[in-house]
Amino acid sequence: MLVDIQVLRRDFPTLAQIVNGHPLVYLDNAATTQKPQPVLDALNHYYRDTNANVHRASHALSGQATRAFELAREKVARFIHAPSATEVIWTRGTTEAINLVAFGVGRHFLHAGDEILISTSEHHANIVPWQQVAAATGAILKVIPLNASAGLDLTAAGRLINERTRLLAIGHVSNALGQVNPVAELIAMARAVGAITLVDGAQAVGHFPVDVQALGCDFYAFSGHKMFAPTGIGVLYGKSEWLEKMPPWQSGGEMIKNVTFEHTTFAEPPFKFEAGTPNIAGAIALGAAVDYLQGLDRIALLKHEQALLAQLLDGLAAMDDIRVIGRPQAGAVSFVMNEVHPQDLATLLDMQGIAVRTGHHCAMPLMQALGLKNGTVRASFSFYNTHDDVAALLAGIDKARELL
Ligand code: PMP
Repeated sequence: MLVDIQVLRRDFPTLAQIVNGHPLVYLDNAATTQKPQPVLDALNHYYRDTNANVHRASHALSGQATRAFELAREKVARFIHAPSATEVIWTRGTTEAINLVAFGVGRHFLHAGDEILISTSEHHANIVPWQQVAAATGAILKVIPLNASAGLDLTAAGRLINERTRLLAIGHVSNALGQVNPVAELIAMARAVGAITLVDGAQAVGHFPVDVQALGCDFYAFSGHKMFAPTGIGVLYGKSEWLEKMPPWQSGGEMIKNVTFEHTTFAEPPFKFEAGTPNIAGAIALGAAVDYLQGLDRIALLKHEQALLAQLLDGLAAMDDIRVIGRPQAGAVSFVMNEVHPQDLATLLDMQGIAVRTGHHCAMPLMQALGLKNGTVRASFSFYNTHDDVAALLAGIDKARELL
């Protein structure tokens, strides 16, 4: 092992605490990750030392804040290998990023009869905005079905992608099942018919390196808080050819070039899409999270996460009353226990200091497709989890079984 996880854990103050009388075992990273000290320091530093609005005043603090804010944009651009920082738009998170595309592309470039293709395993954030677009424009929502192992059925996708397909919106990694979708293949298929492509990368960026140019997508959306940065900041990467064409979304200050009562001209992207005072501290702290991650051996961390996953899957496979859903590959493992409501199991785990998530994981159509009316228990990893965490979860399930 090239990285010492125990040493890395010291960077995350939240992890070192007692919950319900037990050392915290935090396995709810798909919901949000904990924040390392450099991210906390970046927030603190901004508010303590440089707090000022960006892009406006000519005074020194505003200059510092603007430089830090724009430097963070450049860091994010490099992080996802975007050709230019002007293709990185700050949003509140993945949800807002997808809504921005649903508005700017969906409502303005899609027409009655055009097809929008999503998949069965999408998070609600990548379903509902497209339903709204369909309702407003007469476009038709199509859904890639699941294959036998609860992954996406690529053959069916091949049949669904046709000359009417105008937009493909697909999750990179399923937040509910931890399956990595064949996004590169799907994007290639969609591009072959001239469709616009968006990837919901909320569950990918915190786990493995992402290269938007290699993927070839038009848009890539993600949230800071799932990659060690604060809540309330996220990113929409968009190819400049689209950002030029898309109308502004919200309007007001910051996004303009010139305003008269008769007419307004808009700023260039990305500012055209960033009306009002942005989340300056959040953006700078997201830049710090990128620096933190870039300073680690991400391949070694990924291997460590894979080892945790294998340990958990082995342990669960040895339990007759547990059924793992699908074939988890990154981040999350969803499972159910015979006859036991997921919420009951999670409560008994919480009593042992083990944080997991239960329910439909904002993927109700997926749960319906899998016949899981009460949803699942989901344990989700980050690189700071340990083999002891997994052992604690497995032992916690055994203990819960005794109590039930
Ligand atoms: N998509 C996926 C795959 C997610 O996991 C999440 C968060 N659970 C979202 C979208 C929405 O992210 P946010 O709530 O940060 O906007």
